Amino acid sequence: KSNRMSPAPATVPCQYRTGKTLGSGTYAIVKEAVHIKTGEYYACKVINKKLMEGREYMVRNEIAVLKKVSRGNPNIVTLHDYFETSHNLYLCFDLCTGGELFDRICAKGNYYEADAAELVRTIMGAVKYIHGCGIVHRDLKPENLLFRTKDEDADIMIADFGLSRAMEDHLLTEVCGTPGYMAPEIFKKTGHGKPVDVWAMGVITYFLLCGYTPFDRDTQQQEMQAILVGDYKFEPEEYWANVSQTARDFVAACLTIDPDARPTAEEALKHPWLASATPHYVPDP
Ligand code: ADP
Ligand code: MG
Repeated sequence: KSNRMSPAPATVPCQYRTGKTLGSGTYAIVKEAVHIKTGEYYACKVINKKLMEGREYMVRNEIAVLKKVSRGNPNIVTLHDYFETSHNLYLCFDLCTGGELFDRICAKGNYYEADAAELVRTIMGAVKYIHGCGIVHRDLKPENLLFRTKDEDADIMIADFGLSRAMEDHLLTEVCGTPGYMAPEIFKKTGHGKPVDVWAMGVITYFLLCGYTPFDRDTQQQEMQAILVGDYKFEPEEYWANVSQTARDFVAACLTIDPDARPTAEEALKHPWLASATPHYVPDP
């Protein structure tokens, strides 16, 4: 009998029961999942195998790498488990209950400079670690940066990395809806190595400081043109009045058009803006 129209089973094969949907992104749906035996909660990313089209081997390969690499840094969402059915791939990650950085920026308007520097330093440190493992994230943006808990000072975590190369065809055709964080060399098709992540960090930093993104234009074509020539300004002035020259200089360095001249993650961490970042909470005197 055909069961093509029957609803998806409530129990993920093996040992998890899925719950509410936490989010969806470029090629997956992420659901809350509880490990039945232990009662532990995870975030289960469900990827439809149809989207891989013959690249399954590549995806499996990268998952194995991810599982190893994701344990090596406290600000990367750990991959605990993965398994497949004939239709889907299931990846079980640490559950981050604090939501996306994107939503916190939107709720706040913008971050105080010292808080922004602290976040950027933490994320850049994790980016440096990923790069050291030979992995490029390629999709750094505030939607992929999650808070571990709902606390105001919760750890920030990098999610959604490592699979973008294996999913590439799909990414390039479908993701073009949000080119805002993409480096110029991606459009020029001259390469997209580690420097694209530093560029994205420049866009994210800009967004943190003022509450809007630097290359936002009416059309995607105009946005791409602006990115290609690095056409952005620290304006309108009222949004930037309280932002230091050092912070602007950091953004400008990350948004260097030539990827070879752009600082590496390691170099970016040594920039005065990050090197002098103050701790999140300064105790009262
Ligand atoms: P995609 O590759 O489709 O973009 P993501 O891994 O970015 O998938 O996940 C999509 C969304 O699901 C994220 O933007 C986030 O809101 C939510 N999400 C992903 N991973 C987790 C997690 N570990 N904990 C909580 N929510 C998550
Ligand atoms: Mg994502």
